[in-house]
Amino acid sequence: MEQKFLPKWIAWEVTRRCNLNCIHCRSSSTIESEQGEFTFEEARKLIDDIATISNPTIVLTGGEPLLRDDLFDIAAYGTEKGFRMCIATNGVLVDDEVCREMKKTGIKIVSLSLDGSTAEIHDDFRKQPGAFEGVLNAVEYLKKHGIPFLINSSFTKRNAFDIPNVYKKARELGARAWYMFLVLPVGRGEDANAELLDAEEANYWLNWHYELEKDLILKGDNTILVRPTCAPHYYRIFRQNAKRDGLDLKRRNLVFGTGGGKGCVAGQSIALIDCHGWLKPCSYFPISDINVFDVPFSKAWFESKIMQDMRKIDEFKGRCGSCEYLKICNGCRVRAYWKYNDYMQEDPVCDYVPVKMRKGK
Ligand code: SF4
Ligand code: SF4
Repeated sequence: MEQKFLPKWIAWEVTRRCNLNCIHCRSSSTIESEQGEFTFEEARKLIDDIATISNPTIVLTGGEPLLRDDLFDIAAYGTEKGFRMCIATNGVLVDDEVCREMKKTGIKIVSLSLDGSTAEIHDDFRKQPGAFEGVLNAVEYLKKHGIPFLINSSFTKRNAFDIPNVYKKARELGARAWYMFLVLPVGRGEDANAELLDAEEANYWLNWHYELEKDLILKGDNTILVRPTCAPHYYRIFRQNAKRDGLDLKRRNLVFGTGGGKGCVAGQSIALIDCHGWLKPCSYFPISDINVFDVPFSKAWFESKIMQDMRKIDEFKGRCGSCEYLKICNGCRVRAYWKYNDYMQEDPVCDYVPVKMRKGK
């Protein structure tokens, strides 16, 4: 098991402080939030330790990572160690100076968040007038300096109607990839639970996304890569629909995706390290049982019971446990935990009934 499951992609929350106040924020960040325990020295130690078992992509995230004075020292150190260093930002603080630092320290790609095609929609979602303008400015700076970027878009009932327009906007802005994310019930999202898309709505938009992806593949259009994130059952829908359409669609590789070629790889090849050192299977996982300040990451990755459980897909329960698509999907462990208080349970946002569970089978 140990060799099969190695970290390929790690999100590292280098601060929880943030200059925005988004309704769906997984860490409920504000400008008052803490930076956490990673001093530059501790950050170097962590990077050295990760390098003993793997050479992953590291996404420096937050809060807003650009609020850290030593962010580019950390980035440079990771690059020196051979990691693919990336930054996830809301874009507001990106300027010429920041772009020069990104280039100097080997940042491979920047991920920006765009949740609406207009200032009205995006700023309402981000709870910050001017946030939309901030993203557009960031795009201009990144383009000017030749730094590739991708766009993550988060959706709930509030802004899902705008999904096709946000895709168009991401394409028009020149993003290398567009990742459609259906917001999860965690962090400040708990207050916004009433706004989360239900199984039927998720189905609608995932089917919409299949048509979009199919069209791009059939046209051989590689301008922009697209993929829903944290909707693992999209992998089932894609396969079912392609079969229905009689197509053998070759899916394209993601730009700095989380790898694995399946819906969810939480704890299998990805992880989050939060600003206090807690190791979690993914950025949205609400609990942790191990801290990298107590047990070095290189051991914690293997020793944490939660991380081990994520790899025991034969022990998943409910519909996921019986599902013929489990190996390409995995079901969302966070949604299972939220609904059943058991992360091994079925994903409640998928309404598929596996063949084995149908009457008479
Ligand atoms: S467990 Fe859910 S939230 Fe976490 S990576 Fe998997 S699909 Fe995404
Ligand atoms: S039942 Fe679970 S494994 Fe099967 S498609 Fe739905 S989420 Fe995926």
